[in-house]
Amino acid sequence: MIFRQLFDPQSSTYTYLLADEHSREAVIIDPVFENLRREIALIEELRITPRYTLETHVHADHVTGAWLLREKLGAQIALSKLSGAEGADVYLSHGDRIPFGKRYLEARATPGHTDGCMTYVLDDLSAAFTGDTLLVRGCGRTDFQHGCPHKLFRSVHEQIFSLPGSCLIYPAHDYSGSTVSSVAEETEYNPRLGRHIREDDFCGFMENLGLPHPKKMDIAMPANLKCGKPETDAQRALDADWAPVKVTYAGIPEIAPQWVAENARKIQLVDVREPDEFNDELGHIAGAKLVPLGQLKDRLGELDKAKPVVAYCRSGARSARATQTLEHNGFSKIANLTGGMLRWRAHGLPVEGATPPG
Ligand code: FE
Repeated sequence: MIFRQLFDPQSSTYTYLLADEHSREAVIIDPVFENLRREIALIEELRITPRYTLETHVHADHVTGAWLLREKLGAQIALSKLSGAEGADVYLSHGDRIPFGKRYLEARATPGHTDGCMTYVLDDLSAAFTGDTLLVRGCGRTDFQHGCPHKLFRSVHEQIFSLPGSCLIYPAHDYSGSTVSSVAEETEYNPRLGRHIREDDFCGFMENLGLPHPKKMDIAMPANLKCGKPETDAQRALDADWAPVKVTYAGIPEIAPQWVAENARKIQLVDVREPDEFNDELGHIAGAKLVPLGQLKDRLGELDKAKPVVAYCRSGARSARATQTLEHNGFSKIANLTGGMLRWRAHGLPVEGATPPG
């Protein structure tokens, strides 16, 4: 199985990607709206097809990327029928299975943090995605969104601690750097829910947490009750408006050679190689300005911020660095020529100044 744990530093949320390695069908659990460009790049680089987006619950601290993921990649939205959210494709009940390839997750109703909380358990009981029901050495709050400490206590004991001790616990959040735990570990060491702690003790603990409401709550809750459907044009959140730029998982905006060849007049082409490479056997692209990478920072004034900049080099590595320099200096319309001059030549696109080898 393909498994990735992704993190949102703003809200300390974990997003999980699980895929069956044979069919490459996938599910994504709790995607965050602002990170979707990264998540989509990873999905494309791993060549997987997301079948479902699963929400562990209606979040109060971040907006889900579910709606946008359906728009972009067709993943169906699934969450609890008790979530109160509109616009989903599948409303889950306790015991439902969510298939991806030959694998599946089983939905277990684990109310308490909210009424619509679900824990998703992997088919072989090796992992459980517990949302905010059970965190590493903690649990979600129970003081709003119809939270109830009695329900949460029973959910954890009946639906999660009943799993094998070796079953890994993957939470929706962590605020102190933990990434994973296990049923055995939490049964032993969870300071709120460990096996020696009674329901009354737990409820007393939870009623005295005194936490402030999440910062993004006023935005996140209404948006998540619509599965993350934005008020404004959502595509703009993902796509550059000047060209079909693709941002890689490494965060580099890239543009295909063919587009550059057809739109050379609309852009500023910057060749960031060394001067002796400009007229080597690969040659250079007509109209390109030679600014070696080491000089770029000092020569930014020679470029027009209003006009898109496409940087290139031999293979695309140095120019990837150049796009970061440009971005840090206030250039917004930027891209790296995918594969550099090597790819450009491989496509048979025209060059200038090429000296024959030897
Ligand atoms: Fe939550």
